[in-house]
Amino acid sequence: MSHKTGEFELISRVKSLFAPIVPHNMQGIGDDCAVIYSGNQATVITTDMLCENVHFKLSMGGHAIGMRAVQVNLSDIAAMGAEPTAIFLSIAVPDKVSDEFITDFFAAIRDCGIPLLGGDTTRSAADFIVNITAIGTVPAANIKLRNGAKVGDTVFVTGELGAQSLSGYTADVVAQTKQGIWLGGRPEVNSMMDISDGIAGDITHILESSAVGADIDLGKIPIAAGASIEHALCGGEDFLLLFTCDPAMAKELKDDYFAAFAAPLYDLGVITPNIGGLRWLQNSTPAAITPQGFRHF
Ligand code: ADP
Ligand code: MG
Repeated sequence: MSHKTGEFELISRVKSLFAPIVPHNMQGIGDDCAVIYSGNQATVITTDMLCENVHFKLSMGGHAIGMRAVQVNLSDIAAMGAEPTAIFLSIAVPDKVSDEFITDFFAAIRDCGIPLLGGDTTRSAADFIVNITAIGTVPAANIKLRNGAKVGDTVFVTGELGAQSLSGYTADVVAQTKQGIWLGGRPEVNSMMDISDGIAGDITHILESSAVGADIDLGKIPIAAGASIEHALCGGEDFLLLFTCDPAMAKELKDDYFAAFAAPLYDLGVITPNIGGLRWLQNSTPAAITPQGFRHF
């Protein structure tokens, strides 16, 4: 059993345990953010923890680590079509961490421009650990969930994949906040999520939540300069948005997005009735190698 399988099983158990006490206006575990509906507005909330030597090395420096800790959360807010409103920050700090590191860390968090409204600070015996909770807001009508994909939808990604895993996760990456809010305002976008663990695994969350399948064309995967197809499919932390859209509106959406952001949307394939089934195609025929195979590289 892989580490990820264990994590998903645990989360699924926790979800069942709490389902009976989650009120109707709230939606908890299973999307990029939790949602609390209140009239025509929704509040979205997400939290992510980063641990030294698991998610980063201290040698990356305080600025890069602070930046990453905020952006992973802002990416989940963007994935809902929401606008970030505030963050909370908790840190566990070992003695080895310098004052300069902490200064750089907070400068990076300040640079992200979202008000920090509170948190917690504690000593740590060994590792530096950082947890951020981010809160966002979105008109209820604009919220994008993972479970809205419809058969026939065009599957899009908002940028080239694999740059982060190519760089060894050291390059600064910025969440697609404006793009997420913009896509939230487009009714033809039926489902959305951010790509945090690699598109090959992440897309299955939309397929399972929506009870659909997908045919994805390997030849259409946009690969960042210097990256390999393995980086593009299985590398994490690109913080791009993956979404599905009514095919009748796909061209208009693509043109409008280009006009708004001077950047293309990449069409990867189509949602199919094949429940949970993900097929990777090369020149319209099933690819000989599955992305799971790529994990061994
Ligand atoms: P993401 O990559 O979008 O941040 P995750 O894969 O980390 O999402 O988490 C998937 C879902 O499981 C989310 O809804 C998250 O809130 C929930 N989750 C993860 N860990 C826990 C936990 N320990 N307790 C409750 N919910 C959790
Ligand atoms: Mg996410």
